[in-house]
Amino acid sequence: MRNPVLSLLLCVLLAGAGCDGGSFEPNLEVGVSTCHRCQSIIEQRAWAAADRHGGAIRLYDDPGCLFATQRNDGITGDDALFQDHGGSGRWLAAGDAWFAWTGAFKSPQGSGWAAFPSFAAAQDAVTNAGSGRIVRFAEARSAAPPTP
Ligand SMILES: [Zn+2]
Repeated sequence: MRNPVLSLLLCVLLAGAGCDGGSFEPNLEVGVSTCHRCQSIIEQRAWAAADRHGGAIRLYDDPGCLFATQRNDGITGDDALFQDHGGSGRWLAAGDAWFAWTGAFKSPQGSGWAAFPSFAAAQDAVTNAGSGRIVRFAEARSAAPPTP
């Protein structure tokens, strides 16, 4: 959405429908865009993430790269988006998503975190993996290991 007045109006009309954070539209080009943190080319949409900081939209190839960057930057808000790991191709607002970690998830940088649109979807992924944990955004960001 390029028109800020129209965007604000839609946010007012759609109050509570994702306008509190994560209401931006990342320009992700799989195979071309690079991760803000590790500079890797983003090869797999299902692991991608994005946030806004200092007026810039930053893309990531792994949720762990976003978590680590936000921890380093001292960001505590939820102005971030994550691709639905289930493969819908939709961006999920950080505040709406559920985050699953399992040792079986082979994310591009090895964080093992993936985002899902519902607790049930995250639970299915963890059940299929055998074990893991499911948390909301703030906990996933603070719980992620300090690398990558
Ligand atoms: Zn990265």
